[in-house]
Amino acid sequence: MSAIRRRVSVPVNVGGVWVGGDHPIVVQSMTNTDTADSAATVNQVMALARAGSELVRVTVNTEAAAKAVPTIVETLDKFGVKVPVIGDFHYNGHLLLKKYPDCARALAKYRINPGNVNIGKKHDDNFRTMIEAAIEYGKPVRIGVNWGSLDQALLTRMMDENNRLPEPEDAKTVTLRAIVRSAISSAEAAERYGLPRNRIILSAKVSGVQDLIAVYRMMAAEGDYSLHLGLTEAGLGSKGIVATTAALSVLLQEGIGDTIRASLTPLPNGDRAEEVIVSQQILQALELRSFTPQVTACPGCGRTTSTFFQDMADQIQTYLREQMPVWREHYRGVEEMRVAVMGCVVNGPGESKHANLGISLPGTFEEPVAPVYIDGKLSTTLRGETIVAEFIALLNDYVARRYAPLDLGEPALAGA
Ligand code: SF4
Repeated sequence: MSAIRRRVSVPVNVGGVWVGGDHPIVVQSMTNTDTADSAATVNQVMALARAGSELVRVTVNTEAAAKAVPTIVETLDKFGVKVPVIGDFHYNGHLLLKKYPDCARALAKYRINPGNVNIGKKHDDNFRTMIEAAIEYGKPVRIGVNWGSLDQALLTRMMDENNRLPEPEDAKTVTLRAIVRSAISSAEAAERYGLPRNRIILSAKVSGVQDLIAVYRMMAAEGDYSLHLGLTEAGLGSKGIVATTAALSVLLQEGIGDTIRASLTPLPNGDRAEEVIVSQQILQALELRSFTPQVTACPGCGRTTSTFFQDMADQIQTYLREQMPVWREHYRGVEEMRVAVMGCVVNGPGESKHANLGISLPGTFEEPVAPVYIDGKLSTTLRGETIVAEFIALLNDYVARRYAPLDLGEPALAGA
């Protein structure tokens, strides 16, 4: 695993999942179903949890949503899905938490947006009501500032103060400082109201990569609150994935961040669980955690005129991901296995030797044979139509031999 030194943060227990301190960085996600539709929400939470989301947030925006939350949590429990469910509140959280105590009890954490609960204004009763609910029901909160809903009174005050300085900072810098100030001062207010620091997580999301890095560096320097990272409104497809990866990687490399989310916009009928896979891949690429065996595949070039090796790499990666729920229960450390699927003799044997298991397929004009390397040594040579099936058989055999079986009843560790 990586030698990255994590920033010191106060650990927070979110429904049995630890965030912060020296606990593994937690992957979380959010549903996009109508929470009032409990069946659809349960299905999506289950899908996200199955993909590896360790915390799942649902919006709690209406009375119907608040009423549905206990049913959602109970149903998940009946299906044996233990993932903590977090309530995302805006504007009316103080009313809903007060009116629906079963909802307040069922949720594992409350997300509060200080920009729309009137903290900082003359009466900050709404924010205080939510904090008091967290105290009453023994829940942690995430104070999540988002620059789309930043406390405008605070921003105006800071802009005015800045304008009076002999050398004022630019408006962008002041805005970023206001985001940080909003998060920190809200957390300090929550502590004054009686919520201990080990029940507070902070986030300050913006949609620009450089802005996010700047904001989190500032926030990390302000104290030891656990931090949730995410680039808000990251966007669609490769743009969203790349921007999220760029921003989060810089911060994670600096040891900043205790839990992460990739806020991707799914394509119509797209798979919501993609955001979970992206978060896992970021952590695994940085060697911060391991979730699933990784396939190293070359990009292909003019030496691979058929798509056979691309198909094979895809089939192997899919197979590994599908096997993981079972393997994780039986074999310790299997998530760290590395598999290489290479397109020709140029880099194939070399890369294959670096993997636990590697296959070098024949490029154009090469002899139609595929040497397989196991732990750096040539093991066998495959040929013909059944290469994929035979390679998968070798893979299964390797996993059974190489990774120690977990004791019966011993819980599998989800990548440390
Ligand atoms: S390993 Fe061979 S096929 Fe793959 S990119 Fe390199 S030269 Fe091309």
